[in-house]
Amino acid sequence: MTNAMKFMFCVTLISAVSACTSQDKQADQRLADQSTMAVNWMQQSGEYQAIALQTFKFATSAFQQAASKGVHSPAVIVDLDETMIDNSAYQAWAAQQQVPFTDATWSQWTHAKQALAIPGAVDFARYIDSHGGTIFYVSNRAEQDRQVTADNLRTLGFPSVSAETLLLNTSSSNKQARFDSIGARGYQVVVYVGDNLNDFGQATWHKDNVQRREFVAQHREKFGTEFFLLPNPSYGDWESGLSQNYTKMSPSAKLQVREQALRVWRKMP
Ligand SMILES: [Mg+2]
Repeated sequence: MTNAMKFMFCVTLISAVSACTSQDKQADQRLADQSTMAVNWMQQSGEYQAIALQTFKFATSAFQQAASKGVHSPAVIVDLDETMIDNSAYQAWAAQQQVPFTDATWSQWTHAKQALAIPGAVDFARYIDSHGGTIFYVSNRAEQDRQVTADNLRTLGFPSVSAETLLLNTSSSNKQARFDSIGARGYQVVVYVGDNLNDFGQATWHKDNVQRREFVAQHREKFGTEFFLLPNPSYGDWESGLSQNYTKMSPSAKLQVREQALRVWRKMP
């Protein structure tokens, strides 16, 4: 290969790499843009607030029913993010900046301790806590965020936040081992509240959306009696459930997966 040929090869390679990078950046911006409406809905709509209130009302009734049957040491397991606390300002920041989620910016957000309470969440936790129940906050926030998370929860008025009740992600995002540890301590879990099917056990962990929907169909009698779900159109394992290896895909490939997952009206010409 002559020097001139080598030079041209390098120029072509650099152009190809920079075209790829710019394409990925544009795709990242489009991905971030797509969450704007979801965040608008969660932050602005009365409908979101009403759903949250009714979810906690029904969850309270389910707890009361279990307590009235004389369940010994009744416990309630709740998730934190987008279940008890609202991180939509972080999602809004990412949408506005057109940047993807990263551990670094998430950590900055959690350390700012600016999460708000989801409507009805504090009253629900206080009710359980003051009526013979124990509330366990089982979250996949990282262990290094324990202090800032506890501070944020206490400032918002959540009760009984302690080393025993705040169970964070120490080794796996699969929450089943933490749920089992609560049962092993003699508690009977009567209600679960979450915004992700994975908040109800390991059955849906790392599963695609077909399997996740099957789980819902198979356990339909538990929804509204033992499992209580808050809506989260902004993020969740339903997104990675769109395709295998979704989280490892390039931004352009993710965009394509999202578009291909749409069930589209076949309009006649
Ligand atoms: Mg959550």
